[in-house]
Amino acid sequence: MDKFQISRDRMVRKIREHGVRDTLVLDAMRKVPRHLFVEEALQPQAYEDRALPIAYGQTISQPYIVALMSSLLEAAPGMCVLEIGTGSGYQAAVLSAMGLKVYSVERLPQLYTNTNNLLINLRYHNIRMKLADGTEGWPESGPYDRIIVTAGGPEVPTPLVEQLSDPGLLVIPVGGRYGNQRLTVIRKNRGVTRREENEYVSFVDLVGNHAWK
Ligand code: SAH
Repeated sequence: MDKFQISRDRMVRKIREHGVRDTLVLDAMRKVPRHLFVEEALQPQAYEDRALPIAYGQTISQPYIVALMSSLLEAAPGMCVLEIGTGSGYQAAVLSAMGLKVYSVERLPQLYTNTNNLLINLRYHNIRMKLADGTEGWPESGPYDRIIVTAGGPEVPTPLVEQLSDPGLLVIPVGGRYGNQRLTVIRKNRGVTRREENEYVSFVDLVGNHAWK
């Protein structure tokens, strides 16, 4: 328990009212201390339902969107998940608290270093991080039961689909630059991939070989 537990419970209640009912996700979000993933000055706002700035022009996603994407993953404890876009590390921490084995890739060196230290200090030992262009995936540790991309690209990067297990599921915002993407789900089953498009969302750009340049 910390002094933000009441704020966290309220945040989870609101997410539930907005339609995400997945208890694995909600229980995880009730536990993860989101305020420790933002700058100290922003801590009082950490549990409001909006994105907040982190360093280097990036953002920590809004709680409802973290819940929605985590729930779209249809994950079960014990699965391996690859996250592209570690950022603050909050989404990775939520996936870890859901009982998943997490691999997370970040392309900005300073963010990678800061977040790596934070996750070690907070004892998230089932999260491994890599500094690289995540649109290439992380082939050595794959394939992955689940892949989640928390930045928006023009298309689904091919290496990620290749590194998805069969059966497997991938969630990514796809669309234009500077926000205005649709949460897209790719399902792989018996060699066939199917695609579904969900809510409109607004993520920072996915920048890399298989995304924006
Ligand atoms: N999941 C994060 C969201 C961070 S914003 C969180 O919970 O805070 C998206 C992040 O994706 C940024 O940190 C950005 O640097 C990173 N990113 C963008 N393109 C990337 C790429 N090709 N590979 C890895 N990370 C990338």
